[in-house]
Amino acid sequence: MIDEVQKNVIDRFEQVAPYTPIEPFEVIAQKVGRKPEDIIKLDANENPYGLSPLAREAMANLQWGNIYPDPESRALRQAIATFLGVPVEQILAGAGADELIDLVLRVILKPGDAVLVAPPTFGMYAFDAKINGGRALEAPRHPDFSLNLDEMRRIVRQQKPRAVLLASPNNPDGRMLTREELEEIFSWDVLVVLDEAYIEFSDGGKLGEQFTLIRRPLERENVIVLRTFSKWAGLAGLRVGYGVFPQWILPVLWKVKQPYNVNVAASAAAIASLQDLSCLTERVEKIRSERSRLFNLLNQVDWLEPIPSQANFILCRVKGRSAKAVKAELMKKGIFVRYFDTPLLQNYIRISVGLPQQHDLLFQVLRELEESSL
Ligand SMILES: *Cc1c(COP(=O)(O)O)cnc(C)c1O
Repeated sequence: MIDEVQKNVIDRFEQVAPYTPIEPFEVIAQKVGRKPEDIIKLDANENPYGLSPLAREAMANLQWGNIYPDPESRALRQAIATFLGVPVEQILAGAGADELIDLVLRVILKPGDAVLVAPPTFGMYAFDAKINGGRALEAPRHPDFSLNLDEMRRIVRQQKPRAVLLASPNNPDGRMLTREELEEIFSWDVLVVLDEAYIEFSDGGKLGEQFTLIRRPLERENVIVLRTFSKWAGLAGLRVGYGVFPQWILPVLWKVKQPYNVNVAASAAAIASLQDLSCLTERVEKIRSERSRLFNLLNQVDWLEPIPSQANFILCRVKGRSAKAVKAELMKKGIFVRYFDTPLLQNYIRISVGLPQQHDLLFQVLRELEESSL
């Protein structure tokens, strides 16, 4: 009996390549023989400013850590509803947007069902599809990272995927979907999961205002919009995200989700963050302006081609030398960036937007590398 279980379990996940998460701070610090505070961590799009003062205070004064959290996350969802101007009934919170991606796929996929993704993009979409017994169909983006809409439309018509998963701004390139692209995709007969993990960093709005798409699931049965506190509010380590969903799918999501998915600390920190919007807005503004300064610095490096980004990171094509070697050289100086070398992303590095002084040091090191041949 147990042999059969073992075989089954092993077979079922054999074909799924593991997701490679970022290594923790202490581990990478130890690897390069530095203290965590001396590491310049620009590899996971985290917020360099940390928790907002009110969120920090909420953590320090946390009560009821011994009591299970509210399974409905009522206070948190109400705070989000007020922030967004969306009915609380259509909001579901999760342990990061990651949990919600998994939850949605868990309820919509039967074994063998497919979703459509547009790589290069966030690896969790295809990964979660496979973990949930499904598979990912791919419509690779054009070289400028815009969508191949014709190919996507063809796949939607012919293969009828259960959903299309898209990030805007997209990770790893930072490109936003255009209004035209979105309207076209929303008009298709398919469920669209729009992941707006980085929307708060996009130009043309302040927090709470550039959010025109967040109400779309109230009008359209085929649109889900996901958001997170990880990036703009600096709560990546606490795990809290949310989504706005069309009515029909909510009862199923409620039924299937783990009862205590958002822990009390995460919930308190997220609520406090929403009470600290002026501070967080200022930080988002700083990140935006540092993004443009970083872009200009990277542009001055002959062998780098930075891609314009609307998120808190900049993807760079590395020309005439190895991206992997560049990553390794930066690591020696305590600077961590993400590197890619896949068929669709050949020889790229992705640098998260950090603090001004971190960018100064990064630039200095890149300049030094310029003289070396690698
Ligand atoms: C970081 C990221 C997320 C994950 O957010 P969490 O709320 O931390 O789980 C989701 N989507 C994209 C595209 C991301 O880059």
